[in-house]
Amino acid sequence: AELQVPVSPGETSGMGKHRVGTSALTAAILAPVAVLLLGPIRDLSPPAGPMRLPWPVLAALFAAAVLLRVHIQFRREVHSVNLVELPLVLGLHLVGPAGLIAAQLAGSIPALVLGSRQTGRKLAFNLALSLLEACLASVVFAAVLNGGDPDGTRGLAATFTAVLATDLVSAALVMAAIRLNDGQVARRDVLQALVTGAVAAITTGSLAMVAVVVLRHDRQVAWLLPVVAGTLFLAYRAYASLREQHERLRRLHRFTRVVSRAEQSGTVSATILAQARELLRAERAELILFSDGRPRVRTTLGPDDTLDSGPVSDQAAAAALLARCLAEEGVTLQVATVDHPELREALERRGVVNAMVAPLRDATGPVGTLLVANRLGEVSAFGGQDRTLLQTLAGQAGVALERSRLIDDLRREAAEREHQALHDGLTGLANRALFNERVRQAIAALGPNASLAVLLVDLDRFKEVNDTLGHSTGDLVLRELGARLQRSLPDSHTIARLGGDEFAVLVPAVPDREAALGAARTVRAQLERPLATEELELQVAGSIGIALCPEHGADPGLLLQRADVAMYAAKAAHSGIEVYAADRDQYSPRRLALITGLRSAIERQILTVVYQPKAELADGRVVGMEALLRWHDPDHGPVPPDEFIPIAESTGLIAALSRYVLEVAADQARAWIDQGMSVGMAVNLSVRNLLEPGLVDRIHRLLTKTGMPPGLLTLEITEGAVMTDPAATIAVLRQLSAAGVRLSIDDFGTGYSSLAYLKRLPVHEVKLDKAFVIGMTSDPNDAAIVRSTVELTRNLGLRMVAEGVEDQATWQALGALGCELAQGYHLAPPMPPDQATVWLRRHLEQRTSASALAGSRSPQRDR
Ligand code: C2E
Ligand code: CA
Ligand code: CA
Repeated sequence: AELQVPVSPGETSGMGKHRVGTSALTAAILAPVAVLLLGPIRDLSPPAGPMRLPWPVLAALFAAAVLLRVHIQFRREVHSVNLVELPLVLGLHLVGPAGLIAAQLAGSIPALVLGSRQTGRKLAFNLALSLLEACLASVVFAAVLNGGDPDGTRGLAATFTAVLATDLVSAALVMAAIRLNDGQVARRDVLQALVTGAVAAITTGSLAMVAVVVLRHDRQVAWLLPVVAGTLFLAYRAYASLREQHERLRRLHRFTRVVSRAEQSGTVSATILAQARELLRAERAELILFSDGRPRVRTTLGPDDTLDSGPVSDQAAAAALLARCLAEEGVTLQVATVDHPELREALERRGVVNAMVAPLRDATGPVGTLLVANRLGEVSAFGGQDRTLLQTLAGQAGVALERSRLIDDLRREAAEREHQALHDGLTGLANRALFNERVRQAIAALGPNASLAVLLVDLDRFKEVNDTLGHSTGDLVLRELGARLQRSLPDSHTIARLGGDEFAVLVPAVPDREAALGAARTVRAQLERPLATEELELQVAGSIGIALCPEHGADPGLLLQRADVAMYAAKAAHSGIEVYAADRDQYSPRRLALITGLRSAIERQILTVVYQPKAELADGRVVGMEALLRWHDPDHGPVPPDEFIPIAESTGLIAALSRYVLEVAADQARAWIDQGMSVGMAVNLSVRNLLEPGLVDRIHRLLTKTGMPPGLLTLEITEGAVMTDPAATIAVLRQLSAAGVRLSIDDFGTGYSSLAYLKRLPVHEVKLDKAFVIGMTSDPNDAAIVRSTVELTRNLGLRMVAEGVEDQATWQALGALGCELAQGYHLAPPMPPDQATVWLRRHLEQRTSASALAGSRSPQRDR
C-alpha cells in the first residue's frame, strides 16, 4: 500500500496541522523497523537453493511495480493496487532479507520521487512503509518457514502469510495516515479497500510463487512470466477503470440531484461550483456566464470555500477562454504553457497552475465556461476521464442554469402579475384589493386602545375635466395627484386609487379624531394645489370622508363604505371633509332593512293613502285633496314618507310606488265624483318618475279608465334631486300639460328649482315649502320669502299654495299677502279615505249652507 491522498478539496489548507500527525506516524513505523533490522533480521540467513537473484534486478522490479500501480477509486478515497508483491515474494525466496530491504528502498526511492513526484513527509512515510513491509515480510516468512522446504507446502504457507501480513499492516497504516490527514474514512470504503487489497495480494502472490518455482526449476518457460504479469496488470487496470466509470456515474447522478434541488432555492451557480470542485478534486472552480456574447458575471469558489461573484473585469481573457474550449469541447490547460498572453496572465493572477475548462450551453448556444483549477492530490493533473466528467457536468450545468433562468423568469413574471393584480395601472398606486388587504392587516395589528382611519377621497367635478379637456388630461391629473399624495404622506400610509376619481388613504395609527382630520387636510391641500397641464393651469378640489376603526367598524369593506357615506355628506355640505356619523348613513342596517321591507310592502299592497285638503284662502272653499302615502309596517311600525320616499327614489322602487298611489288616488277621486263630490286630486311625483318610459301614456290610460276629468288631477313634482336631463324632463311636463293635467312645483324654495327654470316649465302652481310658512309669523326672513314668492308666482301667472298652515294667524297673514291657496293642519290633517270622505261631505254641506248665508269666512279647524 501507499499513501496517495489528499483526497477532498480544501484539504490542502488544513494539511499543515496534519503534517505533525504524518511525521509521528512515520516515526512510529521506523521504530519497529529499527528493532527488526537490529534484531531478528540480522540473524536471518539468505535462502538456500540453486537460484539466486542479484538485488539490483529486484530493485528494478520494485521500481517498475511502484510505477505501474493502478489507482482504484473508492468513493472519496483512491487506493493503489500494484504488483509489488511480485518482487517481494521473489526477494523472499531468491534474494534474502538484506537484499530484499536494499532492493525495496533502492527501487522505491526513484519511483516515488521521480515517478510520483513525492517529497517531504509523504515521501518519508511511504519509504518508511516500504522498509517496514520488507522487514515484516522477511521476519514473518522466516518464522513460518522455520527451516522447511521453500518450494513445498510450508514455503507456500510462509509466502502467503508474509504477503498478507505485510499487506494488512501496510493498508492499516495508510488508512491511519489518511485519517490523520483528512479526518474521515468511510468504514465501507476501508473494508472494500482491505478486501480488494487482500485479493490482489493473493493473486499477485500466487503469480510470484509460480515465478519462483519456474525460475528455480524450469527457466525455459521464464519468458512466460512477464506475459502473465502484464496480463495481471492489465486486469487490474480494467478493474480500476470499471470502478472509475461506476464512480463517475455515481457523481454525475449526485450532481444532477444536488443541482436540481438548487434550482428551486436559486443557488444554482454556487452548487454547480461546489460540486464541480469536489467531484474533480480541484482547488477552485469558476463559472463565467455570458449574455449577448459578452462575459458578464464571474462566480468563483475558492480553496477556503469563499464564494465570490462579480462583473468580469478581464473580458478579453474570458472570451478567449470560451473560444478555446469551444474549439475543442473543453480543454486541459497547463497555465505556464498557455500562449494567449492575456489569458495566461489572468489565470496566473488567480493562482491557477493547471485547469480544465468546458463550455456551458443552453438552447441558444454557448453561454459560459466552467473551469476547475489546480488538481488536488496525488494524481496531480487532470486526465482524460476527468475531462469527460467535466464536460458532462458542464452539460448538466447548462441545462440547470437555463432551467433556473426559466424559473427566475417565471418568478419575475409572477411578481409582475401580482403587482398588476394589486396595483392601479394608471397611477401605480395600490388598487382596491390591495387596499382592503392592507386595511385588514392594519386592523389585525391594531393595539387595544389604538385607532386607524380610512379616508375616502373623491374629486369634485372631475367629469368636467375629462369631458372638456379630454381623457389624456384627466389621466395626467390623476397621475399627478397620486404622485403628490405619495410624496406628501408618510410611507406608513397606504394610498390607493379605487377607480375613476376615487382615492383612498389608510392612516395606520391615529391617536385621535384630530389626527385623522389632519391627514385629510394634508390630502385636501395637495389636491387643491394648482396643477399645470399642457394648455392651462387646473385647480382640482375633492371631498373626503373619514371612517375610524374600531369606532365605525372593524372590517375593511364596512370602513370604506362608511368613509364613502361621510364623503357624500362632505360633498352635500360643501364642507370638504366629514367624519362618518351613523345618523347620516344611508347604508345603516335600518335603511337596508327598509329597502327589503318596502319592496315587500309594495307587493303585499299594505301601503295606504291618506288625503289632505287644499282650500282657497279667501273663502276656505276646498279645491282638492292631496294623496299622501302611509306605510305602517308590521315589522318596522309606522315609517314616515320622509324616510321611505328617498329610499324608494334611490332604489328605483319609486316607479312602482307612484304607479300605486296614482291608481288608488284616481279610484278615490272617481268614487267621490260618483258621490257628487267633484274635487281635485293631487298626487306627488318624484322628478325621477318623469323620466320613466311610458309615464304619459299610463296617466292617459288611467284618466280614460276612471273617467276622471284631466283638469281634476294635479301632479306635485318634488325636485328632490338635481334634474339630470332638464330637456327630457321639460318635454314630459309639456306632454302632461297638453293632456290637461295640472302641474305643481312642490317644496318650492328648498329644492334646486331656480326662478329661471320656473319660467320655462309648463306648471300651473307653486307650493311653497312648509318650512317658510310655519315660520313666517315669527321669522321676518321667512315672511320675506313668502312675500316674494307670492309676488313671483303672481307675475308668472301661477297659483301659489302655502303648505303647513297650522294656525289662524298664518292663514290670515297669507291671505293679506295675496296668497291664493292653503293647506295644513289648521284646515285638516291628512286623513284615511273613510274619514276624508266624511270630512269632505260635511265641508261641502257647510259650504252650501254658508253660501246660503253668503259671506266668506275662515275655515274652522275640523278634527
Ligand atoms: P309634501 O308633498 O310636501 O306633503 C306635505 C307634508 O306636510 C305631509 O307630510 C303632510 O302630512 C305634512 N303636513 C300637512 N299639513 C301640515 C302642517 O300644518 N304642519 C306640518 N308640520 N306638516 C304638515 P307627509 O305625509 O309626512 O309627507 C312627507 C312628504 O313625503 C311629502 O311632502 C311628499 O314629498 C312625500 N310624499 C308623501 N306621499 C308621497 C307620494 O305618494 N309620492 C311621492 N312621490 N312623495 C310622497
Ligand atoms: Ca305634496
Ligand atoms: Ca311640500
